[in-house]
Amino acid sequence: MARTMTRNHEHFRRALQRLPLGVASNFRYWGDERTIYVKEGRGARVTDLDGNVYVDYRMGYGPSILGYADPRVDAAAREGMRVGGVFALSTEREYQVAERIAAMVPAAELVRFSNSGTEAVMAALRLARAYTRRDDYVILEGSYHGLFDAAMWTADMANMTDPVKGPEIVTYGKGVPQLIRQLFWQVPYNDANRLETVLKAHAHNIAAVLIEPILGNCCGIPSKPEFLRAVRELCTRYGVLMIMDEVKTGFRVARGGAQQLYGVRADICTMAKAVANGYPIAAIGGREEIMRKFGRGIAHGGTYTAQAMSLAAAERTLTVLRDTSALADIAAYGTAMQKGMGRILSARGIPHSFTGHPSMSGLFFRETPTTNHLDWKDIDYTFYDQLAGKLIARGVMCEPDSREPWFISAAHDQSCLDETLNVFEEAVDLTLGELPADHANKTAPLMAGISS
Ligand code: PLP
Repeated sequence: MARTMTRNHEHFRRALQRLPLGVASNFRYWGDERTIYVKEGRGARVTDLDGNVYVDYRMGYGPSILGYADPRVDAAAREGMRVGGVFALSTEREYQVAERIAAMVPAAELVRFSNSGTEAVMAALRLARAYTRRDDYVILEGSYHGLFDAAMWTADMANMTDPVKGPEIVTYGKGVPQLIRQLFWQVPYNDANRLETVLKAHAHNIAAVLIEPILGNCCGIPSKPEFLRAVRELCTRYGVLMIMDEVKTGFRVARGGAQQLYGVRADICTMAKAVANGYPIAAIGGREEIMRKFGRGIAHGGTYTAQAMSLAAAERTLTVLRDTSALADIAAYGTAMQKGMGRILSARGIPHSFTGHPSMSGLFFRETPTTNHLDWKDIDYTFYDQLAGKLIARGVMCEPDSREPWFISAAHDQSCLDETLNVFEEAVDLTLGELPADHANKTAPLMAGISS
């Protein structure tokens, strides 16, 4: 049945009068005719203002690890509210949640809290700079660490013309001071040699290597295990701190996050999305001697830091993740979904691959998965872009931007999977039917199997 968007459109026009682009976050604006407003989310499904129901694979970009409105977490949050709000004082539960985090993530010997991933990474970088007394830092191509000036830089792969010269490093949007460009080095992902070259020459000025173990905003590209081990080893050798940004991977890809998955321990790590099933809280964890610098010359805090409702939600979410098979179930669902999609695509001769962890993976129309941001540039996204629109219109809410992984929650069940695969098959066939005649020339790998 065709989806109606009447109420979504009406609300968009109303919202536009008071909110730039009609939304509260730029990423939520999908175009004047396509912006969706949620009425409610339950489990793995969201319902929009028109009553359209979607199996959701965005899950707030990852936070809803147990599903929307999880009754266990919501009950805990309500109980947390009874504490009374924010006090400009501490509460007992900070310690309890810090204990839980430290037990699950051994690198987090000590813990501090923030409200968002951005804030946590900002604090981690400040901590590293203060501890090492150096200002510079290294970031990796294709990474995203939040909306603060030091992190809002990216390699402009889409417009790169000279592979020898490499991509231009540009800001994510306007308003970021160009002066910051002098402070960081950006190196390709999964390339330890390039990292070593930078560290060898400049380590005396570099406070930290800031790395996402899996590129949560670039197709879910995972670190090769040997690369992450090399980053660890190089940081130790050159006396630079390793900050592992686990805002997306923390408490998702394993109970102890990517650090457990890879067996690599960072000096400082940040976790946010899955900590409290959508309630706003983030954590910074790290080696004791580094973390103890907080309060000894390093500023950290904030009015809403560790507010009672989010803390209570975090405690319950982490307990559920620790004591149940939630994460294994999520990974099993992700694997089953990939297999199902793979069968549908293979039956039509469409080369494809999946990247990342089954709980947050990217889908590519190429036989070999991409391993770095530059590689991504060479993939044709027309098919994904068209497919995504059809999936969403039919009730499967994937990310329209192919660089954002598909997120699975513990609330995704067999009915979600069946529905997803049925819709996926239909959408693939419709997309194939609509490809322009000259598409085969533009995307030889995609069409290789189809035209035969
Ligand atoms: N770090 C990573 C790896 C992220 O994926 C994000 C957000 O997507 C952030 C930091 C910023 O987190 P937040 O949006 O909570 O500020």
